[in-house]
Amino acid sequence: MIKIKLPDGNVREYAQGTTGMDIALSISEGLARNVLAAKVNGKVVDASLPINDDCDFQLLTWNDTDGKATFWHSSAHLLAEAIEALHPGTKFGIGPAIETGFYYDIDMGEKTLSADEFKKIEEKMLELARQKNQYQRSEVSKADAIEYFTEKGDEYKLELLEGLEDGSITFYQQGNFTDLCRGPHIPNTGFIKAVKLMSVAGAYWRGDTSRKQMTRVYAVTFPKQKELDEYLTLLEEAKRRDHRKLGKELELFAFSEKVGMGLPLWLPKGTMLRERLENFLRRAQVRAGYSPVITPHIASKELYITSGHYAKYGADSFQPIRTPDEGEEFFLKPMNCPHHCEIYKTKPRSYRDLPLRLAEFGTVYRYEQSGELHGLTRVRGFTQDDAHIFCRPDQVEDEFMKVIDLVLYVFKALGFDNYSAQISLRDPENKEKYIGKDEDWDKAEAAIIKSAAAKGLPTVVELGEAAFYGPKLDFMVRDALGRKWQLGTIQVDYQLPQRFELEYTGSDNQKHRPVMIHRAPFGSLERFVAILIENTAGNFPLWLSPEQLAVLPISEKYEDYANEIFLRLQESDLRGYIDHRDEKIGRKIRDAEVNKLPFMLIVGEKESEQGMVSVRKKGEGDLGMMPIDQFISIMQTEINKNVVRFKE
Ligand SMILES: [Zn+2]
Ligand SMILES: [Zn+2]
Repeated sequence: MIKIKLPDGNVREYAQGTTGMDIALSISEGLARNVLAAKVNGKVVDASLPINDDCDFQLLTWNDTDGKATFWHSSAHLLAEAIEALHPGTKFGIGPAIETGFYYDIDMGEKTLSADEFKKIEEKMLELARQKNQYQRSEVSKADAIEYFTEKGDEYKLELLEGLEDGSITFYQQGNFTDLCRGPHIPNTGFIKAVKLMSVAGAYWRGDTSRKQMTRVYAVTFPKQKELDEYLTLLEEAKRRDHRKLGKELELFAFSEKVGMGLPLWLPKGTMLRERLENFLRRAQVRAGYSPVITPHIASKELYITSGHYAKYGADSFQPIRTPDEGEEFFLKPMNCPHHCEIYKTKPRSYRDLPLRLAEFGTVYRYEQSGELHGLTRVRGFTQDDAHIFCRPDQVEDEFMKVIDLVLYVFKALGFDNYSAQISLRDPENKEKYIGKDEDWDKAEAAIIKSAAAKGLPTVVELGEAAFYGPKLDFMVRDALGRKWQLGTIQVDYQLPQRFELEYTGSDNQKHRPVMIHRAPFGSLERFVAILIENTAGNFPLWLSPEQLAVLPISEKYEDYANEIFLRLQESDLRGYIDHRDEKIGRKIRDAEVNKLPFMLIVGEKESEQGMVSVRKKGEGDLGMMPIDQFISIMQTEINKNVVRFKE
């Protein structure tokens, strides 16, 4: 008998050679019907694989990330089977699962695969799925494997085989299709109930531009048609909310080839939005005891040699900027931390001066490959809402609590209610690969865990995910569509204080090394604005809206009255525009709606005679005629509703 430890801690005994599916059946038949694979001592395996030793055991279903990945990878085999049935002689590269769905790289020789054929392939896949063919695993010798693919004429699989050792090679067969694969897979094709081919793209074999370009077929599958329908609806909505599309339509930001790829130009409305965000955080930071600083965009090579960034990023990063002085070299700054270390060093520090919290909206530049650039989320120049806290080791916990407060305040004020965090700790088995004192690490790790728990933050702990220079906590938010985004981070650093030889005089009159904490609640303004656009679909909270209202005169006769009204609004710190165009009022209203204006003030004969405005609110329609003061107070109530108080 062997001992099987289940995720809830229960240990059950089974006969040696029992399979995941046997264990599922012993628990319930309903469960067994949903089992896609199993996890044995952290490794995902076929549910049909015999288990011979005591182990930690988990059953995987569609609700598990690993279960989904196995489902999608198995679907890649099904896609290949369908393509081979329709186009005999097709050669196959690799077919992995990706974040959503899977792809297979194929070579159809002279033929090309177009979207017109997607439907036919989907139908074939469903037809094969209905046969409930098992994914059958077999161990093969290298010689037999080579013979099989030589006969089949698939040079890609033969090349993959070159890198494999005899004795470790497995084939999987479902229906008429056999693939070289180490697995694991779902029990049979019958689990796959809904199929959608998404797109085709070119992909170089093994990512090597000098090799053959294959066709990459992207697809997604689900265990229920309903789930596919929901997924497609979500995709449509995501497309509608794409920040690149809305950013253009709402005139928030732009890119220019002449300026350079990945270098966003913030247009007036986008700048208005960004400045509101910056001011909001700036005010909160002052209340939380931060001192704003400003540092230059470039720094001498020496700074980055000291910080270690030169050795790490030098060659891959931007090229040095040379000056007429022989040997003098500058770099665009990839991060603000080294500059802040130098600020720390401008005078002797005592234990009473700590913590020192230096904050900067610091613009940094990093080289990203052109293919990696994406709207505002992957750029080459961006502004971090950066700060560095220099503190004593005994202050780390308290500082962590304060930073978490600040981050949660930001999330709350901006409507991100669904957040979680990942705590990244050392690998306890390999402590020697981290710098810093063991006892300091223990303290810092305990401090992070304790402060996250004290603040009620939902967290997952990942061992071995810490940077070599310190543990960290990363915040994740889910947006209105349920998509996960990584936002701010808090990171402990033992390395930079050491490299920059930072010191403070302790109460014992001895020199000590401070701990440095890096933190950025937004991450970067660019990325944050992108997420904010997609989360709100461009309907920003009133306090952030670049334009809060539009004054729409019915005709030019009421221009003067419109100007008068607008001046009153500006005096009350409200912002927007007057639509002076010689257009029908219906057109002016429609355009204001397209531009997502929260309020419209329509002024005509009645309004100007009685000194009133007719108000329309986005999403609610007509609010009727009212005196301007009443409108201003409605606006102020609405703005204040969104202002969450930050308490120290
Ligand atoms: Zn496979
Ligand atoms: Zn930093």
